[in-house]
Amino acid sequence: MKYDFLIVGAGFAGSVMAERLASQLNKKVLVIDKRNHIGGNAFDEYDKNGILIHRYGPHIFHTNNEKVFKYLSLFTDWEFYEHKVLAKLGEDYYPIPINRTTINKLYKANFTTNDEVKEFLNSKKERRYPIRNSEDIIVNQVGYDLFEKFFKHYTKKQWNIEPKDLSPAVCGRVPVRFDNDDRYFTDKYQFMPKDGYTKMFERMLTHKNIEIRLNTDYFDILSDEKYNFLIYTGPIDRFFNYKYGKLPYRSIRFEWKNLNIEKVQPVGVVNYVDPNKAYTRVTEYKHLTMQNTRTTTISYEYTQADGEPYYPVPTEESHATYHKYQHEVRKINNVIFTGRLATYQYYNMDQVVGAALKQFEEYL
Ligand code: FAD
Ligand code: UDP
Repeated sequence: MKYDFLIVGAGFAGSVMAERLASQLNKKVLVIDKRNHIGGNAFDEYDKNGILIHRYGPHIFHTNNEKVFKYLSLFTDWEFYEHKVLAKLGEDYYPIPINRTTINKLYKANFTTNDEVKEFLNSKKERRYPIRNSEDIIVNQVGYDLFEKFFKHYTKKQWNIEPKDLSPAVCGRVPVRFDNDDRYFTDKYQFMPKDGYTKMFERMLTHKNIEIRLNTDYFDILSDEKYNFLIYTGPIDRFFNYKYGKLPYRSIRFEWKNLNIEKVQPVGVVNYVDPNKAYTRVTEYKHLTMQNTRTTTISYEYTQADGEPYYPVPTEESHATYHKYQHEVRKINNVIFTGRLATYQYYNMDQVVGAALKQFEEYL
């Protein structure tokens, strides 16, 4: 059979494209994924204790993009959830992003207004201009002490790169607050898909024009399949056979534990910001999914260079290499590169969906 489109990858990028092409343009689509499931890194499943876990780490949906929210709402109902994170520093827990509570607890202060906190941070912060890296962006807002405590070691563990060698966009993802708001995100829409992510993907991909083939690597079937147009959501360097060298990606090894206790953490995610623990964060999934169970499942994240690519690594060097690949992209027709790995962008889920919808409208 001949397909109009071959889509490589059944994560958000590939699934949005498949759904739009099938439902809006009546195109015949084959979606392949080398994994044994759909959903990409947002895949969730019930573990053997009956607890809904995210196999590739905690995924919290948040967006200000109404169009993206409305689009995904075609395939899922939602459960309101505002994510909270605590940093474990020494034996104590502090809200992250840094807020008034964090400052009061750490410096034994008693600030009650935003202005007092602002003034305090003004006395701590060092002016860094221009902002060139992830150290500059934090030190410029809160000073070296807070940077060292909450960002320096966590960042080194996560990326195996010092913050001063990482794009400011990395640590710049985390804001600084003067008030007591202890939510991780402040987006307008903060929800979890009611029946989980995988169910949402199933609904997106269930269409007479869409065929799904799992356990299928694009590079193994290159010459076998007949199709007119390719949509590629895998790593861009692999597509071009690493002709300009390998792009760095960070991977994660997860350690899972089920504990015979109803809940073990006060919030969904605890970040271990000290260097003495090798893991970066511990997630307790029941907080995210609001599931009621007798036991609880947690995951420890250990980041590593090798393994499945999870995060592009935003440095000057990797950007330069990516631009060379991007140049190659411009030379070929009949292929669209979309998603976090194929465009080498540190995108959240909503950004991947937004970009895919835009590409669909512009190019197809
Ligand atoms: P992916 O989900 O990576 O999908 C790409 C798919 O392509 C994969 O399934 C892969 O198997 C397949 N593939 C690759 N190469 C081939 C090949 N050669 N042949 C066949 N198939 C192939 N975002 C948020 O908004 N909120 C969060 O809380 C959040 N938390 C995250 C936590 C972690 C630990 C990670 C790693 C990411 C997190 N994200 C979060 C980001 C989110 O995972 C991504 O934005 C989104 O899943 C990217 O979708 P994608 O389709 O671009 O890529
Ligand atoms: N970060 C940190 N300490 C924290 C939280 C975040 O140093 O307590 C830094 C770290 O480099 C991390 C980046 O900020 O990779 C972005 O954080 P985010 O929570 O957005 O990471 P993600 O959820 O994408 O892993």
